[in-house]
Amino acid sequence: MRAIDLHTHSAVSDGTETPTALIEQARLAGLDIVALTDHDTDRGIAEAREAASSAGLGLLPGMEVSAKHHGRSIHILALGNTPAPGSDFALKLNEVRDSREKRAQHIVERLGEDFPITWEAVLEIASGRGVSVASVGRPHIADALTRAGVVTGRAEAFETMLAPHSPYYVPYRALEAAEAIAGIHASGALAVGAHLMTVKRGKGLSSDACQELVESGLDGFEVFHREHGEAERAALVEIAHERGLIVTGGSDYHGSGKPNRLGENTTSEESLERILEATSARL
Ligand code: AMP
Ligand code: ZN
Ligand code: FE
Ligand code: FE
Repeated sequence: MRAIDLHTHSAVSDGTETPTALIEQARLAGLDIVALTDHDTDRGIAEAREAASSAGLGLLPGMEVSAKHHGRSIHILALGNTPAPGSDFALKLNEVRDSREKRAQHIVERLGEDFPITWEAVLEIASGRGVSVASVGRPHIADALTRAGVVTGRAEAFETMLAPHSPYYVPYRALEAAEAIAGIHASGALAVGAHLMTVKRGKGLSSDACQELVESGLDGFEVFHREHGEAERAALVEIAHERGLIVTGGSDYHGSGKPNRLGENTTSEESLERILEATSARL
């Protein structure tokens, strides 16, 4: 049986390692197949594919798309393919990343009035990880606050000044879930809801909300994820069985940016086969 982790991040978004270093870590962790799923960008896939091919690992192309459902922020994994350059969906993702960057600048402006942080310091950290950053997020701001000695790390920053209720918080323009799912399908990928029932306070979706996403075309659920307890896993598996959906698992590895370890949650061979068949992806 192969070890398959279908949710990881590199420094192209808010992970801390290059795609090449991530693949090396995956090899050391004993993984056989990895999906690189950076936030709203596929820019790391080419490097990851090359590294995976040298390391003898399989690479499934992917992305984690920022979306919203009834105004709530959700993440959808696009697995098996990436949008064609210049396609409608690729252009929409460009806009989302632009909006992310402007929003991050706004947050830093607000923080800068009370703390020793500048946009230059954030960019220096985000772009100093050996690969050009495509998707800037709050984790990069957290890293700058940490370097300035304001917080002890990302976890503390997310609990305090970067939390949605904080006066420093600014939202960004994510896609509507149905729009994101349609774009993912147009790129030839499958749309799998990421950690939809997260146990993080106030952020998890109900079974009804998950069912609505299935009505909008969602193909599967990420069930095996550290933010799902037994109850959440059981609820998602039940809907997946009922509706014939794919079930996946992944670590949501962010390098040193999160405690998540590669391979801590994995996907079955059977689910991988379904993804490969539906997307004609080559590993
Ligand atoms: P953003 O993309 O700016 O909305 O920031 C969300 C990202 O921050 C997600 O990718 C999460 O993985 C990451 N994140 C959220 N909470 C934490 C935390 N407590 N520690 C580290 N990273 C976090
Ligand atoms: Zn992230
Ligand atoms: Fe996520
Ligand atoms: Fe993620």
